[in-house]
Amino acid sequence: MKSEYDVLVIGGGPGGAVAAWTAARKGLSACLIEKRPAIGAPVRCAEGIGKKLLTDFLEPDPRWISADIKRARIVAPDGTQIQLKEDQAGAEVGYVLDRKFFDRELVWKASQAGADVFVKTRAVEPIIEDGILRGAVVESCGRRQEVRAQVTIAADGVESKFARWCGIDTTVPVQDLMSCIQYLVTDIDIDPVCNDFYLGNEVAPQGYLWVFAKGERCANVGIGIPASKTGPGNRAKDHLDRFMAEHFPDGKIIECVFGGDPVCRPLDCTVSDGLMIIGDAARVVDPITGGGIGNAMLTGRLAVEVAAKAIATGDTSKAALMPYDEGWRNAKMGRDLERNYKVKEFFIKLSDEKMNDLADSIANIDFDEFSVKALVLELIKRNPKMLFELKELK
Ligand code: FAD
Repeated sequence: MKSEYDVLVIGGGPGGAVAAWTAARKGLSACLIEKRPAIGAPVRCAEGIGKKLLTDFLEPDPRWISADIKRARIVAPDGTQIQLKEDQAGAEVGYVLDRKFFDRELVWKASQAGADVFVKTRAVEPIIEDGILRGAVVESCGRRQEVRAQVTIAADGVESKFARWCGIDTTVPVQDLMSCIQYLVTDIDIDPVCNDFYLGNEVAPQGYLWVFAKGERCANVGIGIPASKTGPGNRAKDHLDRFMAEHFPDGKIIECVFGGDPVCRPLDCTVSDGLMIIGDAARVVDPITGGGIGNAMLTGRLAVEVAAKAIATGDTSKAALMPYDEGWRNAKMGRDLERNYKVKEFFIKLSDEKMNDLADSIANIDFDEFSVKALVLELIKRNPKMLFELKELK
């Protein structure tokens, strides 16, 4: 490993991979380090991604797409179903990926473009001189070395320690940290082109339970509930096991993953002198769906576009990197995150009865587009009294 790069990326998830890939394509010297021994494993994700978001970065490839989704179903506590047909469901959930291969493909692209990639290599300490970040001390197989960089990108996911070491408050409020568990289940009767979302305080209090098709007779079946709502007999695993017993008693669980998903507001600021923070580390996960792959890639690309300009002028101060923070915050992504946080806060307070009424009010509607905005607009239209508080979020 060299001791000096233009850009050092910490974390080999989709955000870090796109950042390193973009940097290499721009002719910058880039180094990506990943603490785990393999990129993409274990998968801590339900692997759903919108088609448009994905194709903005890569041509879809059957090697890393498990299912091409045509329909989605939202199931209310009383069983009322909101059906979203082909063309409408794609805006939110289009493909179910195979992230073991998808994440590797992204890192492979970065490597092919010229980035240096090191697995089993973790950042253990920032190098800070006169208050400015100059890179990181990294550890690989018991050996430590300094890697200096003009810009260091923290892409270290939900656990993100690096930004905290640099003095940034990255706390996720406990009620905004989703405690997730997911089984990969085979030999079950499912619609192989449909993703299901189950709502309700019995099934998934203040969260949701998903069944995302991974092909014929196979699905990611998982749940996320706020860490603050878990307790004896009511852990995420307890809810999931009850659901499995009821819906898929003969299903075979061939993989089990746990993970946290931060559905809080984004960090107050995602840059400082020499530092940029992207993806889950920046807390840019959609607060309603918990989806963060797309935003991780978007922030990874935008961060490096700004970094490249800053490096070219020899000024990588916080002020020079600020267009990145302003860029995503003032764009559709930032506005959606803010709106969806407020929508989530509203919906988690609803009783099951109110949820059933709302579902019932839109159960037979043909949506022009399936998006959170379209859903909220329709709900307001049909329930003006009940959803008065959401009017400003239109
Ligand atoms: P990550 O993918 O988390 O990558 C961060 C990487 O940094 C990790 O590989 C980690 O090992 C590495 N790292 C950490 N610290 C260091 C260090 N010190 N040095 C070196 N490397 C380090 N999103 C969706 O869009 N769709 C879904 O269906 C979906 N389902 C989900 C289901 C579950 C159960 C969970 C937990 C999350 C889900 N998400 C989903 C969220 C999605 O997984 C994340 O938003 C996405 O992976 C974020 O990408 P990232 O690159 O920011 O971080």
